[in-house]
Amino acid sequence: MTSRRIRIFDTTLRDGEQTPGISLSPEQKLAIAKKLDDLGVDVIEAGFPVVSDGEHRGVSMIVAEGLSCEIAGLARANRKDIDSAADAGLNYVHTFIATSDIHLQYKLKITREEAVAKAVDAVEYAKSRGMQVEFSAEDATRTDRSFLSKVFSAVAAAGADRIDIPDTVGYSTPEYIAEITADAVEASSNLPISVHCHNDFGLAVANALAGIKAGASCAHVTINGIGERAGNASLEEFVMALKCLSHGNGESYTTGVTSERLYDTSKYLSKTVGMQVQPNKAIVGENAFGHESGIHTHGILNNPLTYEPISPELVGRKRWLHVGKHAGIHGMNAMLSEYGIETDDRQSYAILEKIKAIGDQGKFITDVELLTIASEVLGEKGIRRLVKLIGFSVSTGIGTMPYAFVKLAIDDREFAGTAYGVGPVDAALKAIEGTMGRTAKLQVKDYNLASISGGSTALCEVTIVVEDEHGNTISTKSVGEDIVTTSVKAVIDGINRIMLKNLLKDRKE
Ligand code: MN
Repeated sequence: MTSRRIRIFDTTLRDGEQTPGISLSPEQKLAIAKKLDDLGVDVIEAGFPVVSDGEHRGVSMIVAEGLSCEIAGLARANRKDIDSAADAGLNYVHTFIATSDIHLQYKLKITREEAVAKAVDAVEYAKSRGMQVEFSAEDATRTDRSFLSKVFSAVAAAGADRIDIPDTVGYSTPEYIAEITADAVEASSNLPISVHCHNDFGLAVANALAGIKAGASCAHVTINGIGERAGNASLEEFVMALKCLSHGNGESYTTGVTSERLYDTSKYLSKTVGMQVQPNKAIVGENAFGHESGIHTHGILNNPLTYEPISPELVGRKRWLHVGKHAGIHGMNAMLSEYGIETDDRQSYAILEKIKAIGDQGKFITDVELLTIASEVLGEKGIRRLVKLIGFSVSTGIGTMPYAFVKLAIDDREFAGTAYGVGPVDAALKAIEGTMGRTAKLQVKDYNLASISGGSTALCEVTIVVEDEHGNTISTKSVGEDIVTTSVKAVIDGINRIMLKNLLKDRKE
């Protein structure tokens, strides 16, 4: 088995930023670039310097940061764009021109010969400015195959250092991209080849892998697969597929990416760009290492490899179990024992029956609800819900400070509190923190709000992290129609979980 080191060209800050609805400030771009460098990518495509002053500044700031990876910038095949990249401090330019007839005829309105001449001039000019040059034939997969080879030969002769094959509209199959990758290796007399795959048919990662197996040494990828339309090949999926799967060609692949940082980087990006990944997204989706079905949970508890292809820790995650109508006795007992609760068979079945009845009503069961049900069944030896929300109101508007009032029952004693905040959610959370302060010092460390559907009746999803005075944290989530109420419910749920955990821990010690 021979091993090949694959180069990761991250274009989150360029193609990723071209995602509809995403726009980043120079400071945000720099912060993401640092995360990407920590992750271990080989190249960051920092932006497209000619598009705006802010973009130019963002690229310059990233260059000036002196990160350990290489920094590239995009330029069309013209001197103005290349000058703009050079002026931003870049010594690595990714220059492109479209080569498919549809782009030449309708977009650029030039002939194939003119396109080759422009490509050659751009490569020669960028080389004359002392830059490393990666050349892309835009829409390569819809370009006439023999013409594509001519373009690659011409730019290789003009001094290009690297060739990129963009599947600009995600139109390729793995078989076709493999064929034109082999063509490109030959036409360019063995220059290093990259593949840049889009996900319009859900094949971006499969196409990128096929390109690599056919001789490419680099893929352009983005965190969470963000990018134009259906996005780009996702970095986390591509890196883990390279690392973990058997490729059946006598080769294994490595990258410079520290896989344990993938989840954290994905979360950071989602938060910064305000775009969540779908729950069933491979590797980084909420459900990627979650289990509910009784059969699966039982298998996982015996040996995680039964229903997990890789261990969640490998990508910086933790497995989670959930109870609902598909739950089984083993999974439920495992969850209860995480909270220090041991039950006999009769008790377990009684709890499970109640859970299934709630699940059949189409309801989601949180950990606190599971513990509450358990406490009902276990009676005196059981546990109580520690904090209950009894009353709550907020007021907000223009020309007035947002203000919240909360009334909580803590161990059946009532406490009330009020607070001002920068907004209604902030006021509500401060009021809860203040009221809780009398019994336990708890703090909301992280707050994340996402809209699940469109329109003014959209459902929102609130994820929060609550921290106690010892630095223990717990993350919890709530979904609802009212942003403020949903936030309050998430906080109360988090407080209960962290307090229950601490209480049960104290009892055991
Ligand atoms: Mn692209």
